[in-house]
Amino acid sequence: MTTDITILGAGIVGICTGLSLIERGASVRLIDRSEPGQATSFGNAGVISPWSIVPQSVPGLWKKIPGWLIDPLGPVSVKPSYLPRFAGWGLTFLAQGSEARVRAVSAAMDTLNSDCITLYRHHLNGTGQEHLVRDSYYIHAFRNADEARLDTLDNELRRSAGADVERIDGPTLLELEPHLTEDFKAAIVIKGQARALSPGQIGTALAEKFKRLGGTIEQANVRAILPQEDGAWRYVTDTGEHTAQKLIVAMGAWSAELLKPLGIRIPLEAERGYHVNFTDPGISLNNSIMDVDMKFVASSMNDGLRVAGTAEFAGLDAPPNEKRAKGLVKLASRLSPDLNADAYTTWSGQRPSLPDSLPCIGTFDGFPNLIAAFGHSHWGLMMAPKTGRIVADIATNTPMNIDLSPYKPNRFS
Ligand SMILES: Cc1cc2nc3c(=O)[nH]c(=O)nc-3n(C[C@H](O)[C@H](O)[C@H](O)COP(=O)(O)OP(=O)(O)OC[C@H]3O[C@@H](n4cnc5c(N)ncnc54)[C@H](O)[C@@H]3O)c2cc1C
Repeated sequence: MTTDITILGAGIVGICTGLSLIERGASVRLIDRSEPGQATSFGNAGVISPWSIVPQSVPGLWKKIPGWLIDPLGPVSVKPSYLPRFAGWGLTFLAQGSEARVRAVSAAMDTLNSDCITLYRHHLNGTGQEHLVRDSYYIHAFRNADEARLDTLDNELRRSAGADVERIDGPTLLELEPHLTEDFKAAIVIKGQARALSPGQIGTALAEKFKRLGGTIEQANVRAILPQEDGAWRYVTDTGEHTAQKLIVAMGAWSAELLKPLGIRIPLEAERGYHVNFTDPGISLNNSIMDVDMKFVASSMNDGLRVAGTAEFAGLDAPPNEKRAKGLVKLASRLSPDLNADAYTTWSGQRPSLPDSLPCIGTFDGFPNLIAAFGHSHWGLMMAPKTGRIVADIATNTPMNIDLSPYKPNRFS
C-alpha cells in the first residue's frame, strides 16, 4: 500500500508518527522549518515513564497556585499583561481538577504511556543509539517526610495501573543518590521507568532511521494549509505549494495557529519551560529526580546534568525570560551541595498544552484527511511513540481497539 501522507512538524511526535507510517508501507514526507527533533523535543527532562499518568490539574491544586505565582523561584508564572487572554484557559484547567475527571484523564494518559519504553527501544533498534534510553527509577524527593505518602490519589492511580511504587526514608535515598541534599527526608520511588540520555540525539537518530527506511524530510516553513475539492490538501511553504492526500498536523505549540483560518479553534497554550545544563557538574545522578516542593526534574545526560522545569504562560510569541533559567541554577544548588554550578548553558522551549492535560489525536470534523497529533504538554517525549502508532492507524484506516474520544480535537467546542 502507498499513501501520500505529509506530516507538518518533525518534533518527536512527528518523527515517531513518520516511523510508524513507514512501517505500514505509506509514502511519507516530514516538513519542519528547522532540524528534526530540535525544538521543544530537544530540551525536555528526558523522563520516559509508563507511570506518568497523573494530569496537571488535580484536586486542591488551586490552593497552591497563589503562593507559586508570587515566588520568583516558583514553578508557575503568568505574565501579567497576558492574564486576560489566559484566564479562560486557566479556568478550564482548574475545572478539570475533580477526582472523577482526574481518574478519567489518567486512564487516557495510560493508553498513551503504557508501552513507551518498549516502543522507544523498538524505534531505536538498528540506529546504533539504543543506549540513549536507559532503565532507571523516577524518584520524587520530599523535604517534609509526612508528605511522602503512598495513599495519595496520584500513587493510587499509578499502582492500580501496575506501577511498583515504594516509599523510602532519607538515608535510603542517599544510598540510591549519594549527591542529593540531606534536606530530603523521604522519597517515593517509582520503578520500571527509563530516561533519555539525550532527547535531541534520540530525535536525530530516529529521523535518520526514518530517512533510511524511505521517508523524506524537507526543511521549510509551513504558512498555510488549504483543503481541495477531492479531499486532498494543499500546503503552502516558503519553498512553494505542494499537495498531499492526507496531512498530519504535528507542529507542537504552533499547531493551533495553522488551523485558525479553517475555522478550527483549539485552546492550545504555549507553556514555556526552561532547562539548565551543567556542563561540568562534578556529580552524576543514577535516576530521574523530581524535587517535589519546587517541581523541577534533574537528570544526568550525555552532555552534563540537566535541570528542567517551570511553567510560564506568556503567549506563543513572548521571548524567554532568562531570570527563570537563572532561578533553576539556584534551585539545582539546593538539590545537591556537591554540584559544581560554575559552567552551564540555558535553554527554553514551548510545551503544547491543553487544559485537560491530553493531546489532540484524530481527524477534524468536516476534514477527514486532516489529522491532529499535537498538544502533549509535559509528556510529549514519552507519549510520542504510541501517538505515532495511533495516528498511523488512523491515516492508513487500520482498525484499532482504542477509544479515541478523550483526544478528540473538537472536545472543547
Ligand atoms: C522543560 C521541559 C521539560 C519536559 N520534560 C519532559 C519529560 O521529561 N518527558 C516528556 O515526555 N516530556 C517532557 N516535556 C514535554 C515534551 O518535551 C513535549 O511535549 C514534546 O517535545 C512535544 O513534542 P512535539 O513534537 O509535539 O513538539 P516540538 O518538539 O515542539 O515539535 C514541533 C515541530 O514543529 C515545527 N514547526 C512549528 N511551526 C512550524 C512551521 N510553521 N513550519 C514548519 N515547522 C514548524 C518546529 O520546528 C518543531 O520541530 C518537557 C517539556 C519542557 C519544556
